[in-house]
Amino acid sequence: MSKLEIHQYSYMSDNYGVLLHAPSSGETACIDCGDAQASLAALQNTGWSLTEIWVTHHHADHTAGVMELKRETGATVIGPAPLSQNIDGLDETLNDGDTFVFAGLEVHTIHTPGHTKDMINFYLPDEKLLFTGDTLFTMGCGRLFECDANTMHESLAKLTALPPDTLVYSSHEYTLANVKFALSVDPQNAALLTRASHVEALRADGKPTVPSTLQEELDTNPFLRTTDKNIRELLDMRTADNADVFAEIRLRKDNF
Ligand code: ZN
Ligand code: FE
Repeated sequence: MSKLEIHQYSYMSDNYGVLLHAPSSGETACIDCGDAQASLAALQNTGWSLTEIWVTHHHADHTAGVMELKRETGATVIGPAPLSQNIDGLDETLNDGDTFVFAGLEVHTIHTPGHTKDMINFYLPDEKLLFTGDTLFTMGCGRLFECDANTMHESLAKLTALPPDTLVYSSHEYTLANVKFALSVDPQNAALLTRASHVEALRADGKPTVPSTLQEELDTNPFLRTTDKNIRELLDMRTADNADVFAEIRLRKDNF
């Protein structure tokens, strides 16, 4: 039985925010805050009182509302050590491998540079919950703004080493674009074809495609399938290093 309740909400054009709540202690964490009003509305809807804000990386769509939300709620703000740009309002910084406790549950900090240098992800092993920010998306991965493909490939490997039934909460609804691209490099993947119609139906209903399980991503996310024979054949990279296959897939997505 899960010890936590989760409330996911939308903000801006395609961002997802998450409130994590422990009924036992009343503690509530908000993961990222690009829009304080959206987070405050989510708190109002749930009736939960915010105690913590967890920040994944410095981009404005994840941080622009942090100061206001902190001021309104008195929540403690934790986030990555600054590696490229500062994040206003941080009370505590986290590095790779750091752990902290939320409502009696251990939270692991996983540094996943690639999209940005400072990106951290939050993993709760007892609950099998993973918050991937802009590193791993449903059937996609973040653009490489501050690091090279090799670095992102290594970061994704840290995430795929987690148990396959881990639930992956990512920060954007990019899935319809991601699935179109995935089909272009992995057209014979039966699991992908099935999932494509599933996510299209969800979006037609206005429903989120986040979260997903790590297993679903392993089966259908081309960025995690660099060892796949059919993908390698299509890319004409049968004997290339995994990191080079990843770099090629990332490049093709950028130009898709
Ligand atoms: Zn970002
Ligand atoms: Fe983002």
